[in-house]
Amino acid sequence: MLDVVQVSKWYGGLQAIADASLTVAEGAIVGLIGPNGAGKTTLFGVISGFVPPSGGEVRFAGTAVTAEPPHLRARRGIARTFQIVQPFAGLSVHENIAVGAYLRHAHRADAMGHAARVAERVGLGPMLDQPAAALTVAGRKRLELARALATEPRLLLLDEVLAGLNPSEIRDILPVLRSIREGGVTILMIEHVMQAVMALCEDVYVLAQGRMIAHGPPREVCEDPAVIEAYLGHG
Ligand code: ATP
Repeated sequence: MLDVVQVSKWYGGLQAIADASLTVAEGAIVGLIGPNGAGKTTLFGVISGFVPPSGGEVRFAGTAVTAEPPHLRARRGIARTFQIVQPFAGLSVHENIAVGAYLRHAHRADAMGHAARVAERVGLGPMLDQPAAALTVAGRKRLELARALATEPRLLLLDEVLAGLNPSEIRDILPVLRSIREGGVTILMIEHVMQAVMALCEDVYVLAQGRMIAHGPPREVCEDPAVIEAYLGHG
């Protein structure tokens, strides 16, 4: 479904990504982990079209999309969440989710109907009419998820959707992520909560200082000396 082929990204003299490649098969949940500043969010920007790469290629469902702007990639079925959740504070939960739904539903009634169904899927059904600003941190994370899901993606890029949640909130949201995948959506997730990566992902890529240093099943990757060294700061 997704092939990132030898992507690199320079910010002036800083190389944020160096020849990084990854593949996500249709129907998989794949993790992308790595220490702070490794280039994970930049790579999401390259995949979703917000960040132009300095080299390499992004292929989605067999088509090179490297030169396409974000809205065309969204139309093809790539959606992402952002690390810093910024809902439209003056709008209701329902209206916030509808913003995503307008991608495929031109009429307000259709978009609102679809948004309500998505809200149910992520557990925000009872909060539909509340202002987004009234949501807790966990509620905002679900809203971010819902806004991306409302675009009816084939590939969902989750940027630290569990960050800032307590263990019971994480436990509650894991089944939501599983059900999204069971609903046919392929997921690539940046995540620091290793327990969640272990529970959800069959395959993990490790980025450190812009380079892909390991790839494989989560348990194997965590025991890889190069990964341990990268996390300890000697990488
Ligand atoms: P974190 O886990 O802390 O979010 P990350 O793995 O997502 O980190 P990125 O945010 O992609 O890493 O950053 C990779 C490197 O690129 C960092 O050194 C960062 O300072 C730099 N960087 C990111 N965005 C920009 C930008 N717009 N301009 C210049 N440098 C940037």
